Amino acid sequence: MKHFPHSRLAGAGVALLVAAASQVFVLGGVASASAPTVQQSRQAVSGTQTQVAAANKSLATANRIYRTGRLANVNCSPGSLPAGSTSAYRRFLTRMTDCLNKAWAAQFRKAKMPFSKPRLRIITRKVSTPCGKWATGAQGYYCSGDRTMYMLITKTELRQPFPLGIARLVAHEYGHHVQQISKIWSYYWSAYNKAGRSQRLALSRRSELQAECFAAVFVSTQRGGSLFTEAEWDHTVNWFSENGSRAWPQNDHGRGPTQAAWMTRGYNGGAPGSCNTWSASARSTT
Ligand SMILES: [Zn+2]
Repeated sequence: MKHFPHSRLAGAGVALLVAAASQVFVLGGVASASAPTVQQSRQAVSGTQTQVAAANKSLATANRIYRTGRLANVNCSPGSLPAGSTSAYRRFLTRMTDCLNKAWAAQFRKAKMPFSKPRLRIITRKVSTPCGKWATGAQGYYCSGDRTMYMLITKTELRQPFPLGIARLVAHEYGHHVQQISKIWSYYWSAYNKAGRSQRLALSRRSELQAECFAAVFVSTQRGGSLFTEAEWDHTVNWFSENGSRAWPQNDHGRGPTQAAWMTRGYNGGAPGSCNTWSASARSTT
């Protein structure tokens, strides 16, 4: 039976937004967070700050990864996700990560930039990372300090796993890894450390919207396969448009419609170059 994601969205929200209003529901694995290590933050503020910013901004706005064309379809077959099977869930996450490794490694080759895989750590309860405490509400987390994607399997997720939702989340965390190894994040964190509160939120939005766009680029390579239907993708984008910001009390991930717009851009463009949030206007990254 082909599930339409709606019922699963409702189920998945409970774990994520326990304290929020009951009508708020969240797509399986919607929420993710990212952070540098304390040490990285310190490194970024030491040294001549203007030099750091001047040298680094082009890393974000004109990165070579933007000129690598379409992301390849690597014929990903992550397997099925029967409800209640932790082993199938783990296998799905592992294979999805392998697919992302293949797809992005090719992109870094084209850019003539060094590539390295992230680590994948699958967890069933919240853990501390070198980047600090687990962000409340997050179901995935990328820590640049240990270059690890932490993927949380909750009981709620396990009851009604939604393949597209999970694939999108892994691809989003992977997007942060791409930002890390392409050095887009070198600019981000150096700018972040010098910025005031609202400027920090604006920088965070550019970073998160880009990771979301990178995720959509990857998802688009699986179009027409067994992972998802177009209806499920459309539904997911609409869901983000309406609910994508609810997990985040501060506007650090972008408004729902802004998230949906970057998802659509990545999906239609199919290339990392579609995801240059760092050169985009402030208005399109609200
Ligand atoms: Zn993120």
